[in-house]
Parts: sequence; C-alpha cells; structure tokens
Amino acid sequence: MKACLLEHPAPIETSPLKYIEVQKPAPAAGQLLIRVSCCAICRTDLHVVEGELPPRKSPVIPGHQVVGAIEKAGDGARRFRIGARVGVAWLHQVDGTCAYCVRGEENLCDNPDFTGYTEDGGYAEYIVAPEDFVYSIPEIFRDEEAAPLLCAGIIGFRSLRLSGIKSGERLGFYGFGAAAHVAIQVARHWNVQVYASTRDARHQRLALDLGATWAGGTFAEPPKKLNAAIVFAPAGEIVPAALKALRKGGTLVLGGIHMSPIPSLDYNLLYQERVIRSVANNTRQDGEDFLRVAAKIPIRTRVQIFPLSEANRALNALKNDAIPGAAVLKIGS
Ligand SMILES: [Zn+2]
Ligand SMILES: [Zn+2]
Repeated sequence: MKACLLEHPAPIETSPLKYIEVQKPAPAAGQLLIRVSCCAICRTDLHVVEGELPPRKSPVIPGHQVVGAIEKAGDGARRFRIGARVGVAWLHQVDGTCAYCVRGEENLCDNPDFTGYTEDGGYAEYIVAPEDFVYSIPEIFRDEEAAPLLCAGIIGFRSLRLSGIKSGERLGFYGFGAAAHVAIQVARHWNVQVYASTRDARHQRLALDLGATWAGGTFAEPPKKLNAAIVFAPAGEIVPAALKALRKGGTLVLGGIHMSPIPSLDYNLLYQERVIRSVANNTRQDGEDFLRVAAKIPIRTRVQIFPLSEANRALNALKNDAIPGAAVLKIGS
C-alpha cells in the first residue's frame, strides 16, 4: 500500500515524510482492517513529524483522524459489519486495568497506545485498529467533513466540558484553527458567547463568520471579562494574557499536547480562584458524546483537501496558519 512514512523527525520544511510503498497491515485478533478514505491533519502530527514529541515508534505512519470502510475483521471482532464506515482517533488502545482506567479516566491510562504515534496511523491506504476503539460515523457527514471531528472535534469538546462554561456565558478562544472552528459551533449551540483571539486575520474572519461575538489579535484584550477560556495555540506566552482576560473564579483550559514554556506569572493573575488546567487525550465516552452532538447540530467543518502524496505540503501550510478550518488528506474513494 501507499503511505507517508516518517523515519526521522525533522523540520517540516525539509519534507521528512516519504511517500512510499509499504507492507499492507493485517488485522490481529480483535482488530479491524480499514481501507482509508480520508485522514485529517492535526497539529499533533506536526509535533510528531518535527520531533517535539519524542519518537515512540520508528519509522511511523502519522495521522489520527481517520475515516474509512472496514475491509476485514480479525478473529473475534464482530462489532461492525464488513463495509461499515468507521473512524479511528488518537486513543488507539488502553490497558483497561491501571488505576486510571479503573476509575473511568482512560484518557490518563498509564499504558496507552496512540494512533499515528506509538502505532501506525492514517496517512496510508490502510490502517488496523482495535474494534473497541473505533467510532461509527454519523450518516449526515461526508468522509472529509467527518475526519476533523475525530481529534480537533473531540478534544475541543472535552476542552469545552472542562472549561465549565454555561449557557449565556462568555468564552475565550486563543488560536482559531481546526479545533476552535468546530468548538465554536458547539459553543454557539449551547448559547455561549465566543471571543476569539488569533494572530491571523483570515482566522479572525472565520471566527466572526461562525458566530463569534468578537475577534481580535492574540494579545488584544477582549472587551469584556471572560468566564472561561481555551488556549488552542501551542504558545506558552499566551497564558498570562489569557489569565488577564478571565473574571474571578474563571477557568483557563490548555488544549494542546505540547506548548512552548509558560513565562513566570504574577500571582495576581491567578489569585481570586482562577484555575489553569490542561486537557490530555479523551475517553471513548467523550468521542461518542461529541459525535452525537455534532450530528444533531449539525457541525459543518471547513476543509481544505490535499492528496496523500502532499502531506508535507499540508503540514507546512498548517504550520504557517494557511489553513482556514481543517486540512484533510483524501486517500481512497
Ligand atoms: Zn489504563
Ligand atoms: Zn490530534
């Protein structure tokens, strides 16, 4: 099969992904073999390709927002029929036995596998995944619209939940890429007012198009104090500015897997019971809950399509803020 393989992490400008022929995988017991239709691109893929996340499998095929059709089921895998349309997300598998899993916190599992990082992902014509960690895709979405929901969507949704935001309140978004452009649609559905801070003028326009009350530069102060805010951009220097925009008791959620160092903070920015918290991965329940809400709204993702052979170019565009909405690799039919 054709795949984009990462042998050594390197700056995306040097095109580290090699578009080559590799062995088609076979499903082990409990796994599904999925013919990939689309794989959306996530900033985490960029962190894997450029080595900000230390290599865990080498070489590796990146990609963890995969939509495709089941071609073959491994021994004992009976949850879906052959040909069913499914999605594979970042959480590839957990042990199910550690103290976190037992408490229902499988997103924090001590022994997790991640798609496109510790296991091969969806920048390929085929992928294998455990049937227990695969999602059914609601019919209302086309393949390319559904793919960005599988990480940008699910992680944005978990970030919204952890922010504690309620109907009628004000929520800040810092950075307005793929995750924010989905999360704003959920927030508006919940009657939440969104204030979008982002450096790119096109992204500010997209935020206003999608119903933001206000959009401004990354460090511009929103006109009103916010009940909560979510930082989607991987830039630690945003944290003090975002804290400054919060009302007393407000929550700041950091939505990324990687962030540049956070500068030292004046305690007054945090005092008055403001909270900073990160988001790590998601549970399957988050995914199921989000896909149900997404189909009901329904979420409309804005996508820019690239062929699989141009994954380097797509990641480069993501790095340079040149994607309004989400980039998606179109792989099969
Ligand atoms: Zn576990
Ligand atoms: Zn992701």
